[in-house]
Amino acid sequence: MNIFGLLPSEIKERIGTDFPAYRYKQLMHWLYGKYSFEPEMMSDLPKDFKAWLKESFSFSLPQVQEILKGSDGSSKYLLKLEDGKLIEMVLMPLDKKLTLCVSSQVGCRRKCSFCATGRLGLKRKLEVHEIVGQILLAAAESQPQRLTNIVFMGMGEPLDNFDNVAKALKIIQAEESLSFSPRRTTLSTCGIADGIIRLADSGIKCKLAVSLNSAKADTRTQLMPINRRYPLPVLKAALIHYLSKSSFRVTFEYILIPEVNMGLSDIKALQKYVGDLSCKINFIPFNPVPQLPYRQPTEAEIESFMANAQLIKQAITLRRSRGTDISGACGQLAGKHNTHKE
Ligand code: SF4
Repeated sequence: MNIFGLLPSEIKERIGTDFPAYRYKQLMHWLYGKYSFEPEMMSDLPKDFKAWLKESFSFSLPQVQEILKGSDGSSKYLLKLEDGKLIEMVLMPLDKKLTLCVSSQVGCRRKCSFCATGRLGLKRKLEVHEIVGQILLAAAESQPQRLTNIVFMGMGEPLDNFDNVAKALKIIQAEESLSFSPRRTTLSTCGIADGIIRLADSGIKCKLAVSLNSAKADTRTQLMPINRRYPLPVLKAALIHYLSKSSFRVTFEYILIPEVNMGLSDIKALQKYVGDLSCKINFIPFNPVPQLPYRQPTEAEIESFMANAQLIKQAITLRRSRGTDISGACGQLAGKHNTHKE
């Protein structure tokens, strides 16, 4: 059993009464305070407790295979899992923030047409310890800087791996582990309406981002086949339910793709769709992905779109993707390594 897939309360329970209660605290401090993951290196633990730890748990983390550094300071990590499968995570520093983009699955079954990961198909879901493992690795790698934000925007659809993502969130938010703030944690979905409702009802706290990309049914279906399963009105009803239970507003992500979703009628459809929803909208210029039939918008196209989008009353921002030169930006993850090496 991998220790990074367990809640602090589960670890405590396993330690039970066989060892003094303070051994649990010492262990948690090594793992989540010092990011030291080898029992042998935990210098203030006695031999018998170390031996019991090694016998009782696996402490293995995803292995770093390669780190690609981008010109904007982003680092993309290629990670190898125990079964040899490869995933990616991206660390993105910006001003005083350090954001980690984590993966929730190997590949993805949702087939969004602008996304490199979608082309892989779903290989498998990540286990809880593989999700928490990415976060611990990133926290250890970036010391002395602290991770300030975590976004589930890497490979995979997090709501298609609901149970494991939910438990990983509980682990990192627990006081005895990282005590990571829910307001600094964002889960990004392609619009799995059932999952949004489940998330709202679960009591799990985090921010929610929805990859919308069009408020026109046909265009959205062309970009995101999930729109057939959960059409725009169904998605909106789920979001209204989520907002009734959450203190956070929703973020819509909207990738700008020329000739597809950047016309005035697209903006008007979006304005109508968001209506009075408590939300903000991030517009993200499309990042080129080899073999995809879309192009990057020019600066003039982006400017003109943003000027027209002012008619939307909610907050709108233009977000430049980070890590584009290392294929670490939205929709670019996992293309190269997984397709070539698996
Ligand atoms: S955008 Fe997200 S949901 Fe869509 S295929 Fe890519 S990883 Fe899957």
